Amino acid sequence: GIKCGIVGLPNVGKSTLFNALTKAGIAAANFPFCTIEPNVGIVPVPDPRLNALSDIVKPQKVIPTAVEFVDIAGLVAGAASGEGLGNKFLAHIREVDAITHVVRCFEHGDIVHVTGKVDPISDIETIDTELALADLDSVEKALQRAERSARTGDKDAKVRAEVLGRVRAGLDAGTPARALGLSDEDKAQVRDLFLLTLKPVMYVANVLEDGFENNPHLDAVRARAVGEGAEVVPVSAAIEEELSQLDDEDRDTFLQDLGLDEPGLNRVIRAAYKLLGLQTYFTAGVKEVRAWTVRAGSTAPQAAAVIHTDFEKGFIRAETIAFDDYIKYRGESGARDAGRLRLEGKEYRVQEGDVLHFRFNV
Ligand code: GDP
Repeated sequence: GIKCGIVGLPNVGKSTLFNALTKAGIAAANFPFCTIEPNVGIVPVPDPRLNALSDIVKPQKVIPTAVEFVDIAGLVAGAASGEGLGNKFLAHIREVDAITHVVRCFEHGDIVHVTGKVDPISDIETIDTELALADLDSVEKALQRAERSARTGDKDAKVRAEVLGRVRAGLDAGTPARALGLSDEDKAQVRDLFLLTLKPVMYVANVLEDGFENNPHLDAVRARAVGEGAEVVPVSAAIEEELSQLDDEDRDTFLQDLGLDEPGLNRVIRAAYKLLGLQTYFTAGVKEVRAWTVRAGSTAPQAAAVIHTDFEKGFIRAETIAFDDYIKYRGESGARDAGRLRLEGKEYRVQEGDVLHFRFNV
C-alpha cells in the first residue's frame, strides 16, 4: 500500500500522535527507544463530502477511504553510521512514500528532550543529516558502478552517472534530493535507490494547548518549512490522544470547549493524503456510499481496479458525475436529466471527487 511514515527524534510525541491516529493505545512511555518495531495503522480519512452524498442517497452504509501511517520510532543522531539501531529505522523509512516529521515545539519540565534542549530546527537538521548521510552512501556506491560501466562505453550508464553526480553534489552541500529540481527523467535514473531525501515531507509541530499562537518554536518551524515548500500542521498530540478516546458526544463537547470544529488530527490526515499524491473518488448507491483512493492522475480503469481487478479487465466505461453536479442536481437521475452525467472511456483521468459508476464485462 501507499504509506506515510511518522519520524522524529525520541520523545517528541510520535507514539502519542500515532495512538491518536489509530486509537490503538500502544504504550507511549516517557523514555527513548520505547517503541522499536514499526507500527502500521490504517486511518480513516475524514471527508465531509461523504455526509453530503449520504444526505441525498440515504444509504445503508457509509464507508470512508483510509490512509496508512507507519510509526517509525527511534531515529537518533548517528543512525546512518549504525548507532541506536539506526540502520533498521532507515530501512523502514525507505519503504514509505512520504514522511510526516514530528517536531517538538513545547517546553515541559517533566518530559525529557533527548538533547536536553527544545530546539526544533536543530532537531530537524539532526534527522535530515541522518537521511542525507544514508542517501550519500547509496549514491556513492551507485555512482561508482555507473562510472565503471560508462568507461566501457555504456551510454545509459553515462547519463545515470551524470544525474548521480548532481545528487551527490547536492547532498554534500546539505541539500535534500527533493530540493534539487530533478526532472522526471532524472528521478527515473535514481528510482531504484529509494532515496530518503527524495520523499515528500510535511511537519507536524507538536504544541501544548496554549502553544498554537505566540510560540517561537512553531514560528521557527514555519519559517523553515516555507523555504522547503513543506506544509506545517500544528497539533497537540496529547489533546488529540485524549479526544480519540472519547465517544462522539463527549468529543464534540470537548472540541467546543477548545473552540475547534474538528480534531486537529483531521488536518494531519488530510495533509498526509495530499502529500502522498492521493485523490478520492466516490461510489454512491443505496447499499453504500463509499470513498475510494487512487493516485492522482489515475485513469478510469485504474480507478476501477481499486474496487476489483475484474472491473479493470472488463472495463467498458465509467458513468461520471462531478461531485458538485451530484450535489447540485440532488443525485444521479437529477444529474442525468441536467445532462451532467458523462460516459467516460479508458483514457479518462479521474478527477478529484468524481462520483463514478463502472460498467464492465464479466
Ligand atoms: P516519541 O518517543 O516521539 O514516540 O514520544 P511519545 O509519544 O512517547 O511522547 C513522549 C512524552 O511526551 C510522553 O510522556 C507523552 O505523554 C508526552 N507528550 C507528547 N505529546 C505531548 C503534548 O502535546 N503535550 C504534553 N503535555 N505531553 C506530550
